[in-house]
Amino acid sequence: MNIVVCIKQVPDAKDVRLDPETNTLARDGVESIMNPYDRHALEEAVCLREQHGGTVTVLSMGPPQAEAMLREAIACGADEAILVSDRAFAGADTWATSYTLTKAIETIGDVDLTLCGKQAIDGDTAQVGPGIACRLKIPFVTCVQKTRESSDEAIIVERMMDDGFDVIKVPLPALLTVVKDINEPRVASLKGKMKAKKATVKVLSAADIGAEADQIGLAGSPTQVVKVFSPEPRGDRRIFTGTVEEQVTQLVESIKGYL
Ligand SMILES: Cc1cc2nc3c(=O)[nH]c(=O)nc-3n(C[C@H](O)[C@H](O)[C@H](O)COP(=O)(O)OP(=O)(O)OC[C@H]3O[C@@H](n4cnc5c(N)ncnc54)[C@H](O)[C@@H]3O)c2cc1C
Repeated sequence: MNIVVCIKQVPDAKDVRLDPETNTLARDGVESIMNPYDRHALEEAVCLREQHGGTVTVLSMGPPQAEAMLREAIACGADEAILVSDRAFAGADTWATSYTLTKAIETIGDVDLTLCGKQAIDGDTAQVGPGIACRLKIPFVTCVQKTRESSDEAIIVERMMDDGFDVIKVPLPALLTVVKDINEPRVASLKGKMKAKKATVKVLSAADIGAEADQIGLAGSPTQVVKVFSPEPRGDRRIFTGTVEEQVTQLVESIKGYL
């Protein structure tokens, strides 16, 4: 089974700040990590390869520094790594991002399964996975919490729902987006780290994947971020401390003040 895992480098959530001048994410001095959901997608791909054979290719669209994250993915079990990187991709919204990743997946060719995280922890739209599937004209299932059985023809998965889960059989090729409950990602082995050090991360440009200039980056992005801001805290806030009983007593006393 040939699997592509889309992984995105994101700012570490504990460091996310907004630049008050530009209303954009302040990325300077902020540590970058592999999007946590994508780590679970990678683990699932490696487990499926261990069962069925084939290859796991990790794919990212991003700046040159995303290479470090792709090497980390190799250390955790991926076979190949591809970075789609070109100044022409700058300013891409989810529409242009899914177009670019689709062109890269078509360039890789012969892909049975594409895995994505449910969402990226910075953009948070959860649009890119379904966007790729629509462009590839393949079926997709979002919020997958378990892969049950798989063969060369189909995969049976559980889709997380508010009140339980759906069991869905989907023919291959297909795309899945995964939630964190799906598995416990492995820690990179020493052998994996050695392999990652020596591995070649293939870098593909817009021309390499045959991307149309008017479909990528800012030119190919129909949406624009007009403003990004931290919401103002609403009203008076109090934080109660102590045991649960003490906090309940404090809460009751506080409510009495409003009666
Ligand atoms: C007008 C506009 C301009 C923007 N300009 C920039 C900019 O200059 N720089 C910038 O960094 N962001 C920019 N963004 C944000 C960018 O559009 C999103 O980060 C990107 O499209 C992915 O969307 P998301 O983060 O919501 O991902 P989601 O849809 O939430 O991600 C779901 C999954 O898709 C996959 N995925 C998503 N993105 C990638 C990727 N790049 N590579 C591989 N897999 C991926 C992962 O598996 C991820 O778990 C801009 C957005 C807009 C609207």
